[in-house]
Order: sequence, then C-alpha cells, then structure tokens
Amino acid sequence: MKSRFAPSPTGYLHIGGARTALFAWLWAKKTSSKFLLRIEDTDQERSTQTSVDAILDGMEWLGLDYDEGPIYQSDRTERYNEVINELLSNGKAYYCDCSKERLEKMRENQIAKKEKPKYDGCCRDKALKNGVIRFLNPDDGLVVFHDFVKGEVRISNSELDDLIISRTDGSPTYNLTVVVDDHDMEIDCVIRGDDHINNTPKQINLYKAMGWPLPEFAHVPMILGSDGSRLSKRHGALNLLAYRDEGFLPEALLNYIVRLGWSNGDQEIFSVEEMIDLFELKNINNSPASFNQEKLEWINQSYIKSTEINNLVENLKWHLNNLNINLDNGPNIYELAESLRERSGSLVDMAQSCVMFYCDFDAFDSVQANKVFNTNSKPILEDLVANLNSINSWTAENIHSVIKIICEGHDIGFGKVGQPFRLALTGNGKSGSIDISAQFVGKERTLARLEKAIDWINSNS
Ligand code: GLU
Repeated sequence: MKSRFAPSPTGYLHIGGARTALFAWLWAKKTSSKFLLRIEDTDQERSTQTSVDAILDGMEWLGLDYDEGPIYQSDRTERYNEVINELLSNGKAYYCDCSKERLEKMRENQIAKKEKPKYDGCCRDKALKNGVIRFLNPDDGLVVFHDFVKGEVRISNSELDDLIISRTDGSPTYNLTVVVDDHDMEIDCVIRGDDHINNTPKQINLYKAMGWPLPEFAHVPMILGSDGSRLSKRHGALNLLAYRDEGFLPEALLNYIVRLGWSNGDQEIFSVEEMIDLFELKNINNSPASFNQEKLEWINQSYIKSTEINNLVENLKWHLNNLNINLDNGPNIYELAESLRERSGSLVDMAQSCVMFYCDFDAFDSVQANKVFNTNSKPILEDLVANLNSINSWTAENIHSVIKIICEGHDIGFGKVGQPFRLALTGNGKSGSIDISAQFVGKERTLARLEKAIDWINSNS
C-alpha cells in the first residue's frame, strides 16, 4: 500500500503542511506501506525552486523520509494530455469557449436567483476544438464516500460543476493531475488538508469516468492560531525551517504537531516509534486544532533535557557551525552539552552558552567590569591565579575547593570571589555554576582570562 504528501511549491513548508506530511508518513509506517513525495508544480507562475528546496529541506530536517519521489508534476504533462484526450474521445470532456463576461453574468444571475453558482453546460453539445476543456460531470445521482476523519460525505451531482481540466494554454488543472497521479502512483490512502474536501467529489467523478478504483480519503482539519483565527504569521513563525533556526529539535516539533488534532488519551510526549505504534487515522480530531507556542517551547525543553546525547549534539552542531565555532578548540562537546542541557531553553540558547568554551572574547563587558573589577577584587583574582595554577587535576571539585580556601583566607562570602571570577571567565558574567564552567574552559584558558582581568584592573585604576 502507499500514501503520499503532495505539496504545491508556492511557498515554504508550513506547520500545517508538515502535519499533513507527518500524518501521511505515520500511516505509511504504521501499515508497512510506502510513502511518496510529489511536488505539484503545474502552476508555473506561482511555483518556485526556493519553495521546492524548502519542502525538501523541511522533510529532511523532520526525518520524514520517502520511498518514492520527489516526483514533479511538471515532468508528467504528456501523461495528463493522454488522459484528457481519452476523456475527450469518450465524450466525457468537452471544449468550452465561453467568454469571461458570459461566465460572470451567468454567475451573477445565479446568485441573484439564490442558486449555487456553477457552469450551465452551454458548450456541452457544441463540438468545439478550442478553449478550455471541461469535464462532463454527471447530472444525476449522488457522490458518497467515507472519510476517515469526517465520516460519510454525500453530495448531489446537481451541485457539482463541469470543472475545467485543461486551461486555454493547454495546461492541466489540479483536480485532473491529482487524480491521474494518485491513480498512476497507486496511492491507497489520500491524506490531505480539509481545504480540499470540496474537490474530492469532483475527483471521484473523474476516477469513475476513467474506470479507475478509488483510493481511501482522510481530510485533516486545519490549524488555528491561539485566538481561534486561521494560523498566520502573527501567531509565530509559519515556515517550518524557522523552527530549526530558532533552536527546536525536530523530534520536539514532530511531537508537538502530531498532537495538533490527534491524541492518545492524555499523553503529551511521544517518541517517533510510539507515534507510529499508536497512530490511527480514525483518532484524528474532526475539529480544528489550536497552535500554542508556549506548549511547543515546553515540549522542546523537555526534549532538550531528555533526548539521547548523540542526537542532542548532532542538532546542536548545526547551530555551532552557524556561529563558526571550531570544536577542536575546546572541551568535549558531548560532556559540555550534557552539563548545559538542563538550563537551556533552546538549541540556540545552548549554542550561545557554548561560545565561551571555544572562543576567547575580545573585551570584558565594560559596565560590569567597572563595577566588579577594582583594587578590592584584584588580590582575590591574584590568589585565584596562584591557587588554581597549583591544581594538578583540573576538576570542578578541585576548583571549588580553591574558591572555598580563598573565601576563608579573605574571610569573605562566596559571591565576593564568584563574581569577579565569573566575569573574568566569561567576559559577560553569564554562565552556569562557576566551578563547572571553569573546568570546561580548561586550566590554561582560565588562568589566561584571570590574568587578563588583572591587567584590566592595572590599566584602569
Ligand atoms: N497540492 C495540494 C496543496 O498543496 C495538495 C493536493 C492533495 O494533497 O491532494 O494544497
């Protein structure tokens, strides 16, 4: 069996699209089926390579791998024409040359008479040879199908239009290409946004006209912003890759989006394996889900705390690379990440916290230096240099003992030593516990930074 994700490359991959892709992917994994990626780029004016790249990168980042594709609709024009010609020669499609003006007028009249606007079939019997090509929709009967999310859907053929399957320039339209592709690519389950549910009966009539078996359908409700309006930029980043850039782990995002409209009791955290194991199309909620940025952040933090360290570091490295950090020039990144994960809100946070361990800073923050570095703190810094220098085994415990000795020797509290030490070590006063930070900075670098602080005092007092 097979499912597919069929985005149009007319914008970036957004949260809603990613969730549709995830549901289709989960269905495939759950049912040991194949998953296909199809790029629906027949709208040449609106399709861009940038969007294609964003879709492919987004899928890769999320780990939504596909067994087939990417298949581009733009490569399949010949096949679409073949089907259109077959429909024409079987009398199931016809040319229509109605002018825009006529169609508009017809529409206005229908609206005035409170009728549902639809093409009146004026060209059905004209035997024209140019214009758009319309599908001859049956006049009578019902289209009935079962949707995994919506249940039974029924619509009378009298409400359906003779839809355009080929434009005046000869290019095929979405409803035609999607049917040809889902048939040719042997798609068993069509999982897509419910903004397409009105297209489905028209598509079903096309399948029937071609004598093709129908796939099953699941139309997924849309995602709303926290204020109940349609999700838009106002509610946070829509571009999926912006979440990568902002320091989210892909597993956290998957976990968050799978819960948008799908649930398994009260469970909040799901590994990908658990999602596959528990996923059922029939458990998708029929009402729209609301996007909640705070919850997404909470899930991300809990993944940062608990994900397997190799996975954490692999994702962190992408951000470290963006900051041009050379990991050969500092501590073991796995140990450092382990020590930082508890207090990092995002991978961006974590990467920024890493900088001081691999790169020396140019200057101390001047506001803080003016406050903290002075003739009182100078002897403390000098004592730190002397005592730390004699440590043989550079561990947080031994560094801690030195701080304690200096506190006792000067009869001062921890803060009086910790504050100048922290500023000397970090340049900006921001770090976790000072002994652990110094351990990761390394002995040589720690001593050099203390000396630098002493030099600062000498030249500023
Ligand atoms: N290309 C369509 C879209 O991006 C989806 C088509 C489908 O899944 O059937 O909205």
